Amino acid sequence: MKGNIFLVFFVGASCLNLYAQQLYMPRNVQRAFNNQTRSADGRPGRNYWQNSARYNISISAAPPNRLVTGAEEITYTNNSPNSIENLVFRLTLNTHAPEAPREYEVSADYLTSGIQIDEYREEGKVKAWKQGSGNTWQSVKLERKLAPHDSIKISFKWHYDVSVQSGREGAIDSNTFFLAYFYPRVAVYDDIDGWDRQNFTEGHEFYNDFNDYTFEVSVPKNYVVWATGDLLNSDETLQPAFAERLKKSYTSDDVIHIATSGELASNSVTTQRDTVTWKWKADNVSDVALALSNHYIWDAGSVAVDSVTKRRASVQAAYNAEAKDFEKMVDYGKHALDWSSNNFPGTPYPYSKTTIVRGFADMEYPMMVNDSSQKEPDFTRFVVEHEILHTWFPFYMGINERRYGFMDEGWTTAFENLIARADMGDEQAEKFFKQFRVAGWIKNPAADADLPIITPGDAMVGRGFGNNEYGKAALGYLAIKDLLGDAVFKKCLHEFISRWHGKHPLPWDMFNTFNSASGKDLNWFFDNWYFSNGYIDLAVQEVTSTNTGYAVIIKNIGGFAAPVNVVVTFDDETTQTFHQTPQIWSSDSKSAMVNIATKKKIRSLVLEGGIFMDADEMNNKWKQN
Ligand SMILES: [Zn+2]
Repeated sequence: MKGNIFLVFFVGASCLNLYAQQLYMPRNVQRAFNNQTRSADGRPGRNYWQNSARYNISISAAPPNRLVTGAEEITYTNNSPNSIENLVFRLTLNTHAPEAPREYEVSADYLTSGIQIDEYREEGKVKAWKQGSGNTWQSVKLERKLAPHDSIKISFKWHYDVSVQSGREGAIDSNTFFLAYFYPRVAVYDDIDGWDRQNFTEGHEFYNDFNDYTFEVSVPKNYVVWATGDLLNSDETLQPAFAERLKKSYTSDDVIHIATSGELASNSVTTQRDTVTWKWKADNVSDVALALSNHYIWDAGSVAVDSVTKRRASVQAAYNAEAKDFEKMVDYGKHALDWSSNNFPGTPYPYSKTTIVRGFADMEYPMMVNDSSQKEPDFTRFVVEHEILHTWFPFYMGINERRYGFMDEGWTTAFENLIARADMGDEQAEKFFKQFRVAGWIKNPAADADLPIITPGDAMVGRGFGNNEYGKAALGYLAIKDLLGDAVFKKCLHEFISRWHGKHPLPWDMFNTFNSASGKDLNWFFDNWYFSNGYIDLAVQEVTSTNTGYAVIIKNIGGFAAPVNVVVTFDDETTQTFHQTPQIWSSDSKSAMVNIATKKKIRSLVLEGGIFMDADEMNNKWKQN
């Protein structure tokens, strides 16, 4: 009897204390784990659910008129265990309304009257729509509650003016539009917060469910449309020779010039009906975006992205004649797809294509990129690689960018550093990374610089928010890579991707997956890097000779568990580098002893972090007296 009680207690206790150190967890996240929508081993819980919809969208545009009109039908399915009384709709384009709350100043050219709803229907019945005031979301009480596992049909008619100033979307020139966030959509309703009612205020990005889309875009003849997903009717929209070129590009290793500005101007590219309707389909994606132009050059090629099945993905570029750097864009895109599919993250590019459009945004969308033109070709490639690497985080992985942008920009920025090393060598890639991603944080002693990365993104603005999303988070992932070694790191990353793609993982799901897939308790590292007010500042405290060489005591002033190279110069003028992974901080985050095994006499040594830049390098050196 006693023995049995003891056994039960022991098993129970060991489950609760799976890891020596527990990570801080907000109460709503704890509730999700208690409800088993998330599982402590890092997998989706047995009660995991997410909602989704089918979107059927038609829009029309006829530049230089900036009016876009749209109609859509949404079939929204409630997979939650709750009855839904209100639907929350996202109206992101209201960010252009004068009264919208924004984190940045905008010019008068950015302002429009937002998105205007002309008709709203529930289950086919027209209902009054009360136009909001600059909010990018609106809640609507349903006539009939939406029960668990039930669906509802909603339809909208709307119009809006494309803004003159082009950012993530807008008029690139008077005859070239980039359209994104252009349709009313149902906001995310999830197991953590219920409805996502956060305003889009420009600085913080997006959080979307996975939906199936069919959409059609009607434009005047001689306009080409590029969009997320597969073009269903190239034979109806393009004249035969051009449809043939496009088809050929899907299997060709060469870059094919599908259409030039001259060919478009001579009426030879598109079908010559007054209005041409381009039809698209994209399943299980978090959003769709599109571009249209009557003079952009159109190039295309393709590349095998799956080494096992040999599946190819299409890479297309659309650009104005002045953007000379875009002449290489299909090659850059093919390289990015090939490298990322085979190296980091190292899982095959999950979609059928990508299209890179010359605009101003340097912004990612599912299967679309909107990039500015650069003077330096290396920089053009660098930026497009970053945007294409976003394919995995946030899109394939369904990240809540508003709250946990460090799982989106952080991963992408880590991969960006790795592909840059392959492209331009370690020295140049490290220089770029330090300059763009690290220096602005580590050389800034401000109070917001060292806020814990786990701080919800929507609770931060400005530089502190940027540091946490990009450089600090990326360094953390690269530090884990250094800690685990490439093989185990990739195993953990791939396990995380395979468990959570097409879902909505939280940081705790990611940390738990890295623990279970590595078979190690890494909470000491996650707590250090993602939950603490740390930074990087290491110092040499003491160097003493030992039986086997030297013992170097390194003091960790900043507290972050950074890897470091101890670079030793011997009396004979030779130097040797002793690399230390973050493991040296696993038992004591403030102090570590490093043994330098050598028979030679050390004259001096220095701690070098490379991209793990040190806030104060004055205390990194030691010299024999
Ligand atoms: Zn990014």
